[in-house]
Amino acid sequence: LPKTIGAACTEILNSANLSFALCPLLTDGAIEALLTAGSPQQQQQFIPKMVSGQWTGTMNLTEPQAGSDLSLVRTRAEPQPDGSFKIFGTKIFITYGEHDMADNIVHLVLARVAGAPEGVKGISLFVCPKVLADGTHNDVHCVSIEHKLGIKASPTAVLQYGDKGGAVGYLIGQENRGLEYMFVMMNAARFAVGVQGIAVAERAYQKAVAYARERVQSRPVDGSLPRAATIIHHPDVRRMLMTMRAYTEACRAMALVGAAAYDAAHAHPDAQSRQRNQAFYEFLVPLIKGFSTEMSLEVASLGVQVHGGMGFIEETGAAQHLRDAKILTIYEGTTAIQANDLVGRKTMRDGGTVARAVAAQIEATEGELAGSGSEHAAVMLKRLRSARQAFVDVVDYIVDKGRTDPNAAFAGSVPYLMLAGNLVAGWQMARALLAAEQRVAAGEQAEFMRAKILTARFYADHILTQVPGLRDSVVEGAAGVTGMALEAF
Ligand SMILES: Cc1cc2nc3c(=O)[nH]c(=O)nc-3n(C[C@H](O)[C@H](O)[C@H](O)COP(=O)(O)OP(=O)(O)OC[C@H]3O[C@@H](n4cnc5c(N)ncnc54)[C@H](O)[C@@H]3O)c2cc1C
Repeated sequence: LPKTIGAACTEILNSANLSFALCPLLTDGAIEALLTAGSPQQQQQFIPKMVSGQWTGTMNLTEPQAGSDLSLVRTRAEPQPDGSFKIFGTKIFITYGEHDMADNIVHLVLARVAGAPEGVKGISLFVCPKVLADGTHNDVHCVSIEHKLGIKASPTAVLQYGDKGGAVGYLIGQENRGLEYMFVMMNAARFAVGVQGIAVAERAYQKAVAYARERVQSRPVDGSLPRAATIIHHPDVRRMLMTMRAYTEACRAMALVGAAAYDAAHAHPDAQSRQRNQAFYEFLVPLIKGFSTEMSLEVASLGVQVHGGMGFIEETGAAQHLRDAKILTIYEGTTAIQANDLVGRKTMRDGGTVARAVAAQIEATEGELAGSGSEHAAVMLKRLRSARQAFVDVVDYIVDKGRTDPNAAFAGSVPYLMLAGNLVAGWQMARALLAAEQRVAAGEQAEFMRAKILTARFYADHILTQVPGLRDSVVEGAAGVTGMALEAF
């Protein structure tokens, strides 16, 4: 499927069951890595059964001493005369590392070949199936399944490789290029985890709306009813529901725009356009992963709040979404790691060129808003313009400090990520507002379109307004972050 369609479909799967949908999510990543670097024989052996769902895939990066920093990976691979390798080591936190849902589990494993250079340049990627081609069980064993805060239906395994003489592994691509291949898988997985955030937020929103329509408590402040009303009447409950809805719709739009850029980067007939779309997509990936997952936590927390005390009680189900959402800001690179990517690779490396190109596109949308003539568009224009100007200030600051004072640049990394995510998602709401106004004028789906316009207006007044504050935190706030001596904590 094109990513644009695939992303929309996987959101629905993840809304239904985040834990279960994680299995195909990682299998997809493993397929992508095999397509990128696997030999034709490896592709033929593994991919058809992984696509059909007969076999599942895993991603084995993390070790006790190597999490965010994969240069510390110690699992070792010893070459064998037949061209295969024997793998020895311990991998932790491996999602769907062990289960009996499928006939085989295809583990993709990062390991070092003896004599490889230190650090990231000495890591290779291996495919290490649980069941070998001759039907025997490979020397990889599940040592334990973790007890977790959330996604409890997803088995998170500690895997031990090589206790009985070495697990059979086959090199994928070239030696010492493993991290490069894994990044292909990781970018796909990071995008998909962002979509998981949107999915859990949507689920939390739907549950909260249903409860708010049903729970009766307190008289309306405007005196419209002489008795207690359903809580959806209360302005603050509506504010919470609108916040949940606006975040979710904005992040969904941002993810789908990212997916469309990915599709254009692969399928557009014009090479320059492919390149431009690829750069845009790569800029968006940390925003889709980082911002959408952080917002999902806030949305799921509001979902609990809408339920009042019942939200804290497990039988309601609202708390599960909050517990589930927390992992999304951690795995596939924590929010800080996404922010480092945004600061280092996506902003400093090209001197802010792609970031400023995004700002120019936003400015073009401001021009369209100015031409609309509606009150909602005028408000959106005001908010979007000041948010875009704040973004440009921050990009200039990051590019400058990245060279002269890296601690100052990275002190603002997560606020920059949140600012950029907020802005790019809000920009999509501005575009949605314009499109919806046109449809209303044409008499199409008026109710849906009016709801879209009001949601965009809410985003402008209540969410985009956070951007200038985040700018100040980045541009003026580094001293507060790094000033305290380490021993004073
Ligand atoms: C349920 C679950 C499922 C998982 N599934 C998989 C899987 O399938 N495969 C797999 O390989 N791994 C998996 N992981 C591991 C996951 O990807 C790591 O836990 C995650 O990348 C963070 O690494 P860490 O736990 O070692 O934390 P650490 O790296 O120790 O991070 C601790 C804190 O330090 C911060 N930090 C670290 N480095 C930096 C830096 N350079 N700049 C700023 N801040 C920094 C982090 O943001 C974090 O706040 C899973 C984890 C869990 C909990």
